[in-house]
Amino acid sequence: MTPTRVLVLNSGSSSLKYQLLDMRDSSRLAVGLVERIGEQTSRLRHTLVATGETREQNGPIADHETALKSVAEELARDGLGLDSPELAAIGHRVVHGGMFFTEPTVIDDSVLTEIERLIPVAPLHNPANLTGIRTAQALRPDLPQVAVFDTAFHTTMPESAARYAIDPKIADRHRIRRYGFHGTSHAYVSRETARLLGKEPDEVNVIVLHLGNGASASAVEHGRCVETSMGLTPLEGLVMGTRSGDLDPAVIFHLARVGGMSMDEIDTLLNKRSGLFGLCGDNDMREIRRRIEEGDEEASLAFDIYIHRIKKYIGAYYAVLGQVDAVAFTAGVGENAAAVRSAAVAGLEGLGLAVDEELNAVRSDGARLISPASARVAVAVVPTDEELEIATQTYALVGKNS
Ligand code: AMP
Repeated sequence: MTPTRVLVLNSGSSSLKYQLLDMRDSSRLAVGLVERIGEQTSRLRHTLVATGETREQNGPIADHETALKSVAEELARDGLGLDSPELAAIGHRVVHGGMFFTEPTVIDDSVLTEIERLIPVAPLHNPANLTGIRTAQALRPDLPQVAVFDTAFHTTMPESAARYAIDPKIADRHRIRRYGFHGTSHAYVSRETARLLGKEPDEVNVIVLHLGNGASASAVEHGRCVETSMGLTPLEGLVMGTRSGDLDPAVIFHLARVGGMSMDEIDTLLNKRSGLFGLCGDNDMREIRRRIEEGDEEASLAFDIYIHRIKKYIGAYYAVLGQVDAVAFTAGVGENAAAVRSAAVAGLEGLGLAVDEELNAVRSDGARLISPASARVAVAVVPTDEELEIATQTYALVGKNS
């Protein structure tokens, strides 16, 4: 029997998300999430997709190893255990692959060492990803484990886009450059957008707007990323749920010298207490829209700042690409907030961009066009699916190597 299942693991600092897929038809068999690992109030939620049955475990789960063991038990209860000969591989989301990893990679000791070496540029994410990998390896040492990097899709960026204008010797010594993130989503969505247009990825230029709690834009030229808004870390670029996105770097010196803040305080301010949340106290776009409907000026200004930044990036990436076939909205806000899509494209008729408000208002889980038939540039809503992309890349790699 050829194994056709792939387990996708996305390990955060205190969470573990997982999906088991059958790659014969890319269907989900089981999905779940362990939250608040290391706390007294941990929770595991597991769903067997075929029946929709969901089981929950509440109570302390000490670490990722215990979490993955509990997940393995839940899967086994559904006859989908990790010991099954049908399991082909485990695919891990790894946030930072630096310059080194340009493609999904079968994990061996040297790969683990390199992911470890990248911890200084991804202090929050890579340690958690490593823990997930090591735990999975301990459970199934014989099984191929594949790392799929958030940064890989962006490694095609030219040096002119990837380099900051600082002394290259200093930059190289500290591995400072623009890496970009959400790469699996940008890869998947740009490809699906081409498909929606009835074209091959290498026939189109797409601007992808991944607007979730984290947010990033990318310019994808003939299937290759040539520019993206996140940089050395996921702090650069668009206004996000709690991150500021772009600001004058001198704001940091000013906060330290004049504001008396420590580096850690500034880090927390810009990563966790800025963006929409910092501007108006809410980072959920639904709540912000509700407040705007009630005439709340603070929420309204936060929304305007958020939209203004997206518009600047659309314009910039239009110029980078020269010619654009489609602008694609994705992730929690991009897929669901019609008001954001409408406002982000408003006034861009000169660039050939427009939204048909009737199409824009339609709620659907599928990829769809929301621009008028006559528009020069297509505007699309394309739901992202990072787990499917990780599973697809993992399965393709394992298939190639077996
Ligand atoms: P993500 O990080 O892709 O899961 O996106 C999460 C964000 O999507 C939330 O913080 C909300 O701001 C936004 N979101 C989710 N559902 C909706 C909705 N129906 N309308 C507007 N925004 C939404």
